[in-house]
Amino acid sequence: MLIISQTDEKRAGEFREIIGYVSLDREFDVIVVGAGPAGSAAAFFLAKGGLDVLLLDKSEFPRDKTCGDALLPRAIEVLKEMDVLAEVETLAQKVSEMEFNDPQGNQFVVTANTKAGYASYLLVIPRLKFDDILRQKALEAGAIFESSCHVMRTEQSADRVVVSAQIGQTPKRFLAKVVLIATGANIGLLRSTGLLKPNAKEPMLAVRAYFENVSGLGDKIQVYFDDHVLPGYGWIFPISKSSANIGIGLKALRSNDADDSLRSALGRFLERPDVKKMLAGANQVGPTKSYPLRADFATALIVSGRVIAIGEAAGMVNPLTGDGIDLAMDSGRIAALFLKKWFAKANPNPVELKQYDRILRNQFQRRFRIFGLCNALVKYPFMFRAIFGLLQKSVKANRFAAELVMSQPILEDA
Ligand SMILES: Cc1cc2nc3c(=O)[nH]c(=O)nc-3n(C[C@H](O)[C@H](O)[C@H](O)COP(=O)(O)OP(=O)(O)OC[C@H]3O[C@@H](n4cnc5c(N)ncnc54)[C@H](O)[C@@H]3O)c2cc1C
Repeated sequence: MLIISQTDEKRAGEFREIIGYVSLDREFDVIVVGAGPAGSAAAFFLAKGGLDVLLLDKSEFPRDKTCGDALLPRAIEVLKEMDVLAEVETLAQKVSEMEFNDPQGNQFVVTANTKAGYASYLLVIPRLKFDDILRQKALEAGAIFESSCHVMRTEQSADRVVVSAQIGQTPKRFLAKVVLIATGANIGLLRSTGLLKPNAKEPMLAVRAYFENVSGLGDKIQVYFDDHVLPGYGWIFPISKSSANIGIGLKALRSNDADDSLRSALGRFLERPDVKKMLAGANQVGPTKSYPLRADFATALIVSGRVIAIGEAAGMVNPLTGDGIDLAMDSGRIAALFLKKWFAKANPNPVELKQYDRILRNQFQRRFRIFGLCNALVKYPFMFRAIFGLLQKSVKANRFAAELVMSQPILEDA
């Protein structure tokens, strides 16, 4: 089904014309595959910049995405730029603190206002609502959207890309000068496009469930470095005063029963006395769901000719915390601003598209190296305890950790 924004009368007139264009293989400036935070943010900034954009997703929207639902300050900054922050805030739970608990019951608290100019809070909002708001925003900016459209492959010629998709049983082809792949941890399309290394790192895995009538939530998100979960963590993220997204994750699980072991680890996490107390009068709403996370940006392939990966398709998830919404939105925004300049050239040269890789690495490579190093260190319980001890004693170390987990500029990066 082809959908455009319902809010704009004028666009309704263009609707018939657009159906004609799509079935006639109209050539777009950019086709964005995947309407998650990366794809919708990119489509928004591209359309806002005057480019002709088609956004495709295999799902019908609104659709759920298995997630912890927490938006870090970087995501909030992009929402501001998209002029959609107020709308998101009416549906989100605002929190200003992250509480970290170590296996011995020690705590340290990070406040969100660690860096001037960055939002001083986090938001928690179910992806079912959040992703649809972003997608609508992209449509309002002028992007065209096609749902239930499973993209199977891309083929490049010297001057364009052919995108082959399946809508139900019907094969479809779309044309564009550039394609952005924003398919998250779903690697099928990346593989067929040559954007997945044969030796790519195994993804991590995380699992979550929603609970109502939870007590003791407060103005914070809670993170537990529990012995059952290390080197990952368990979380309790409030989506309202009395309901929460609770999950665990981040182990690199390779076995066939990875999903089962993760679910039983969640079961044990829920049995912790402090968590059990919070859940004494609570009930689970909906199923327990798990999903992989790709956090291999440091070694990922990002550009292949006229095809570019953004968001989690480019491995942009913090391997330490599992946050990827903020990095997805920011990489989509950066790609759109880069492409706007590229299209403005008299004779845009496809070889120059490689520069996007450099721009992204200049901004994020060092950060990912630090994430990777910290992730390797916290695998060893004695290292983890030493680091936790240091964070409690040293103001500078604490600030560094805050900036790291909040995905903000790191100390001298600022
Ligand atoms: C359990 C869990 C908890 C997490 N918690 C957090 C958190 O609290 N905060 C945070 O910041 N991050 C969190 N993350 C990470 C975050 O969910 C992702 O990093 C983020 O969704 C990436 O955004 P994206 O737009 O790149 O991809 P996605 O959000 O995965 O969107 C990809 C889109 O592409 C579509 N698609 C895929 N393949 C195709 C295809 N072939 N054709 C057409 N469409 C396709 C999908 O339908 C989907 O809509 C969590 C992840 C997991 C698994």
